[in-house]
Amino acid sequence: RGTLRFAGVEKTFDTGTQALRAVDLDLSPGDFVSIVGPSGCGKSTLLRLASGLTAPTTGEVLADTDKISYLFQDPTLLEWRTATKNVELAAELHGMPKEERRRKAAEALAVVGLAGFEKQLPSQLSGGMRMRVSLARALILDPEIFLFDEPFGALDEITRLRMQDELQRLFRTQGFTGLFITHSVSEAVYLSTRVAVMSARPGRIVRQIDVPFEFPRS
Ligand code: ADP
Ligand code: ADP
Repeated sequence: RGTLRFAGVEKTFDTGTQALRAVDLDLSPGDFVSIVGPSGCGKSTLLRLASGLTAPTTGEVLADTDKISYLFQDPTLLEWRTATKNVELAAELHGMPKEERRRKAAEALAVVGLAGFEKQLPSQLSGGMRMRVSLARALILDPEIFLFDEPFGALDEITRLRMQDELQRLFRTQGFTGLFITHSVSEAVYLSTRVAVMSARPGRIVRQIDVPFEFPRS
């Protein structure tokens, strides 16, 4: 599982803005597709359609799983909850029993390299570590499709490079299908198995390029 398919997708908002036109995009398990393109070309709209938060005006968006996680640029951690309690949040909302939640939160924090930081409050963590908590929170639901809305855009350069490696490692080991939005072509090429290039007004995918390197890389 982990197939995501856009077929003839158009999106026009009530304001009359046509954000997307004739979008065809297929993701299979094992794909990590990055979307690059200028501001306002419809990248976030595409991702929101993938998550099911918005419906297309015409066409279809089909996912073969509802185990979909979303990672945003702003980790929005709850400042009064420890790292563990923040990670447990999504699982709590899904009604996961307490014992299982505890165990999975500890696992997820270990996976993102934060073993030993379980009891820290967000204010005690660095920017990169907060992003990792947010990653762990998304991982606890074992996503089969993982959507990324420019998650590292606000990080300093070094932390960003670290998080790219972290994400690449997670992709190799956790086995989700990835759809990743970024302004950065180098980030897209580094992380992805395929890069989809969008142009604006209205947003459409003008080119898809397989990344000509063996993936996963070491
Ligand atoms: P990107 O993520 O590439 O910057 P967006 O998907 O955010 O682009 O936006 C694509 C276009 O749709 C833009 O012109 C934007 O102003 C417009 N748009 C996005 N969301 C809405 C909305 N809720 N209502 C009206 N227009 C919107
Ligand atoms: P990153 O954000 O990618 O972890 P940083 O440069 O912010 O990178 O931190 C480097 C390392 O310093 C961290 O991996 C961690 O081991 C340690 N560190 C950072 N912030 C804290 C903190 N608040 N408490 C304890 N150790 C920290």
